[in-house]
Order: sequence, then C-alpha cells, then structure tokens
Amino acid sequence: MIKHSVTLTKQSLGFWFIVNKGNVYLTEAGKIPRGTLASLQVAAEPEQICWLGEYQQQPCYLLVDHDQVADQAMWHSARSLLSEDEQLFQLAARALQVALFLQTHRFCGQCGSAMHLVNWELAVLCNRCGHRCYPRIAPCVLVGITRPGQILLARSSRHKTGSFSILAGFVESAETLEQAAVREVKEEVGVDIINLNYIGSQPWPFPHSLMTGFTADYQQGDIVCQPNEIEEAAWFDFNNLPQIPPVETLSGRIIHHLQRKNVK
Ligand SMILES: [Zn+2]
Repeated sequence: MIKHSVTLTKQSLGFWFIVNKGNVYLTEAGKIPRGTLASLQVAAEPEQICWLGEYQQQPCYLLVDHDQVADQAMWHSARSLLSEDEQLFQLAARALQVALFLQTHRFCGQCGSAMHLVNWELAVLCNRCGHRCYPRIAPCVLVGITRPGQILLARSSRHKTGSFSILAGFVESAETLEQAAVREVKEEVGVDIINLNYIGSQPWPFPHSLMTGFTADYQQGDIVCQPNEIEEAAWFDFNNLPQIPPVETLSGRIIHHLQRKNVK
C-alpha cells in the first residue's frame, strides 16, 4: 500500500521522483536524483511529499507538480526509464500516476466540495458527503495473434509509418480481460481468435494504464481495418518483421516470445 504522509526533514535521504505535467525530473546523467531533501534543486515543503516505496534499500518519494526547475531539458517522459531496471520504471510509473490522481481529484465529483487526503491509505475523501476516490487504473489488453510462421501486426493512426505492433485496446465496464481481447481484435481487424493465453502485465503510466498481455491463435476472417483507428494491418513472417516495439515493453516481449516459439 502507498502511504501518502511521511515524517520528513531537510536531511531525509532517498530517491526523489519529482513530477510535473506528466514528466519526471532526471539528473544530467539521466538518473532519478538521490540524496537529501536539502540537496535537491527544488524547494519543497515536506507536506507536499508522498512516500512511494523503496529502491536499493532507500526510500523513494514523490514531489508533486514542481515547475521550479525551468530547464526543460531536465524533464523526461517515463519512457526514458524503460531501459533502466523494471523496479525503477515501476516506481516512476507510480509517481506519475499518483501525481495525476492528486491533480485531478481536488474536488468531489459528487457534491463539488474540496477533497482531502486520508492518511491510512492512498485515497481522497470528501468530508461533506463521504465520497472517496482511489487512483484510477485503466486496464488494457494486448493480443499477439499467430498462424503458422506468421504474426498479425498493425499500425494505429497514432503510430508513425513503418512501425507496427500487436493489437491493443481498453477493457470496457463489466467485461473480462478475455472478452475485451476477443472484442478488440474483432473490432480493429475483423478476425476471430481462439486459444487465448495470458503472458503477463506491465504498468503503463501514459497516463494510468495497466497493460495485460495475451497470445492467441488465428481462427478465421480476412483483415478489415477499423476506420480512424487502424491505419494498416497485415500478416508478417516471423523471419521478416517490420519495426516493432522494444523488448522492454510488454508488446515487444510478447512478439519476441512468439518469434522464439515459431522460428526453430
Ligand atoms: Zn462530496
């Protein structure tokens, strides 16, 4: 569980995840700053700080919405931490999501009063009507679809030409992950799939997704791309893949996993 309040002094040591407008502050060496609160380039009051977890036996803290560091070059997307170890990326993902949660839950959605942080769990509470909110997490399914020797890859309208990935979509209300996978594939490329297998998951803080990954076998249907959503989609031979996501991402991991299985 994430605690929001901690007792800190200017001499408190730790890793500092300083977040502003969806970006995280990194040192010139591209690292999360480590040291005492007093040594940071930003002046933060201890009550603006949330405890995030531990990394290398040191506490990690979130400093919310700091725009005192004017140098734009110091602010980075959490994507730049993907190639670091998984735990560090996860902490950065948590920092960004908690920062967004605090920024977007200042007022009660039910009665409009100011919300307050509760101190025994990460939640905000309306003292007037009792409405309580937790950080939002949007589950998303990724599906790697194969038929003998080939994988179905697509390029969404958000991705640049030549860059392909497996299909992805958000889970809707009251839907299982498996139902979402089957529905998204049908909607986006018009094909039916069978033999869904769960592979793993990855937090994805852009802005608050949880990626869940599956593989599936192609069953039937010709590829028909969903207008305005999928720019192009095709079957690719495993020994002749286009540009795909890096292996640090769950989609990249699934493609490599399927490639190893299919190319002997
Ligand atoms: Zn309220």
